[in-house]
Amino acid sequence: MDNKLKSVYNPDDFNRIGHELIELLTNYLRDSTEGKMPVMNWKEPSDQLSYWKKFTDESNDPIELFKNLIDRSIHIHHPKYMGHQLCPPAPISALISLLGELINNGMAIYEMGPAATAIEKVIIDLIAKKIGYSNNGDGYITSGGTIGNLTALLAARQNAVKHDIWEDGLQDNLGVMVSAEAHYSVDRALRIMGFGAKGIIKVPVGEDFTIKTELLEEYYQKSIDNGIKVIAVVGSAPSTSTGMYDDLVALSSFSEKYNLWFHVDAAHGGGAIFSSKYRYLMKGAEKADSVVIDGHKMLMTPALLTFVMFKNKDVSYSTFSQKAQYLWEKNQDEEWFNMARRTIECTKLMMSIKFYAILITHGEDIFNLSVTHLYDLGKEFSALIKANSNLELALQPHSNIVCFRFKPEKVNVEELNAINSQIRNHILKDGDFYIVQTVIEDKVYLRTTLINPNTNSSTFEELIGLIETTGNRILIGS
Ligand SMILES: *Cc1c(COP(=O)(O)O)cnc(C)c1O
Repeated sequence: MDNKLKSVYNPDDFNRIGHELIELLTNYLRDSTEGKMPVMNWKEPSDQLSYWKKFTDESNDPIELFKNLIDRSIHIHHPKYMGHQLCPPAPISALISLLGELINNGMAIYEMGPAATAIEKVIIDLIAKKIGYSNNGDGYITSGGTIGNLTALLAARQNAVKHDIWEDGLQDNLGVMVSAEAHYSVDRALRIMGFGAKGIIKVPVGEDFTIKTELLEEYYQKSIDNGIKVIAVVGSAPSTSTGMYDDLVALSSFSEKYNLWFHVDAAHGGGAIFSSKYRYLMKGAEKADSVVIDGHKMLMTPALLTFVMFKNKDVSYSTFSQKAQYLWEKNQDEEWFNMARRTIECTKLMMSIKFYAILITHGEDIFNLSVTHLYDLGKEFSALIKANSNLELALQPHSNIVCFRFKPEKVNVEELNAINSQIRNHILKDGDFYIVQTVIEDKVYLRTTLINPNTNSSTFEELIGLIETTGNRILIGS
């Protein structure tokens, strides 16, 4: 073999570079969790691109690459990272991910990932139990909530359509009922499935931004009258923008009445099944035909890891099966250990180990502690916002997603959207904090997700101070 090629796999180089990397990441973890650096070193996209073009031409040193990569990335472990829903992963989970990347078991069939496949089964059984499924619940891990929702909705379609849809294609006008506040991945999944806009039946939300369950009947009948065969109802647990949980019990009763598939998109907040204090938010999910839960949001794993869970085990085998109906009737003995028969992916990452390492190292109760703490922070932060006359809380949060805006008395309503957008933009480029924004009923709100256990009351006070000073400065300037 060519020496250069051989050197790629040199164990001594791996050891030397690996130790330097761990050293670097240890310091990074210390500095970022203690907030001793900006949360982000903001650069315009074109500047970032020219930097990396130059780096590509000039560098051949992996350590330099590591350092620059860290320096030019957003720091999720920073207590002032309060923006999107991605969590600061438990370091043990990152360590086992490195192991997984090196041994690179592909998971499609049993012998391409024997240990990780069995571990996946252990975890799936735990999640099924936590949801409250009977012994017949089952599922698998897939790459993200977006793919998870698509998979679950494909299962719903298989269940509803009596002809062989894999063979014949879509023949009916099918529809799914979903909250107007649902994550866009639901909309996207239905369009991928060929439902078109008419098949996405958006039910309005009430003042608390959860689906108006009293409108379900009316929207259902209207769709039927328009020639749409409604096959499923989707609940958000919670919705992404405002973090509010739909009434899953009411949705479940409604879907039972009309024999519809009930899917719960719990990508963000499904982790509440572990919280003794907040588990009530997921009540009704135990009746859902399918539930999607992201590990990389509330369950401390690096991206990606998504649980796709089914109340009926047989369904988890038939989604991608050519002869779905036949399979269900026959209820044949499935091979749980051959994963690719059930997932969109053929090769997939060893995702199970990311969750399992946390479970083994820290125990199951760590998920209770983490979810409870973060949802408690949501309450604490919203109380501070409510008490401040310059700020307006969008709504009392259910979870760790808190939306509010700068709204001093003297400012006229038309200006508020522009000011709040400018505040968010200012904070992004300043790099001390990371928050995002959302639009609720045509009003621009600042949006925070309290996803970092190191965020605390002094972080909140500092952020509020920054928003007030920035807002007032914009007011004077304009
Ligand atoms: C984040 C989110 C998704 C998408 O999940 P990804 O893992 O980012 O693909 C879907 N639905 C809801 C409610 C979410 O919060």
